[in-house]
Amino acid sequence: MGIENNLNTVLSSLAKEVTLVAVSKTKPNSDLLLAYHAGQKIFGENKVQELVQKAEDLPKDIIWHMIGHLQTNKVKFIAPFVSLIHAVDSIKLLKEINKRAEQNNRVIDCLLQVHIATESTKFGFDITNIEQAIANAKEFLNIKIVGLMGMATLTDNKQQVIQEFKSLKVLFDTVKNKDITTLSMGMSGDYQLAIEQGSTMIRVGSAIFGLRN
Ligand SMILES: *Cc1c(COP(=O)(O)O)cnc(C)c1O
Repeated sequence: MGIENNLNTVLSSLAKEVTLVAVSKTKPNSDLLLAYHAGQKIFGENKVQELVQKAEDLPKDIIWHMIGHLQTNKVKFIAPFVSLIHAVDSIKLLKEINKRAEQNNRVIDCLLQVHIATESTKFGFDITNIEQAIANAKEFLNIKIVGLMGMATLTDNKQQVIQEFKSLKVLFDTVKNKDITTLSMGMSGDYQLAIEQGSTMIRVGSAIFGLRN
């Protein structure tokens, strides 16, 4: 009941153009099924092993997004089925995704992660390197760059979060084209701010499934 209500609360606050990724990391299959049966079809995980296991166990029409930092040696496990990889942060990783996508006769949609937070722990390309990365990615025929992803600093300073989202939106507007249409920004604590700043895709976990341990 709680999960369904939470899901509907988040959904009711979204404009139609904003896509919700339900972030189900660490949560049991039974929780995902509650959201699934309430109509949610897109789920995000941040660990490869957990993503693979859940994809195996759960309904086949679930659309799986890899939202976490991805190591090159693990790409092969998700390449057969993953719908969108959010946090691509190096050309080396793009190259590996391209190779594994080709082996699976697929084109895999990817977002380039942009480093917008002041924390040094968050991964991603520097804002100034994104246009070059997009240009470089054109050689990878089994990858489609469909947008950008970013995580704001974890802080109570709303103005700082707004500024970080704004900077990502400005960058997004300069690289937007017929393929690059997705701006993935906003989590449970800041998705409203992110949407106000132009997010098209939010990744929401705890506001739907409750706090994680
Ligand atoms: C865990 C996670 C989220 C969701 O976090 P919540 O605060 O629970 O909504 C979003 N994006 C990424 C990359 C995550 O790892």
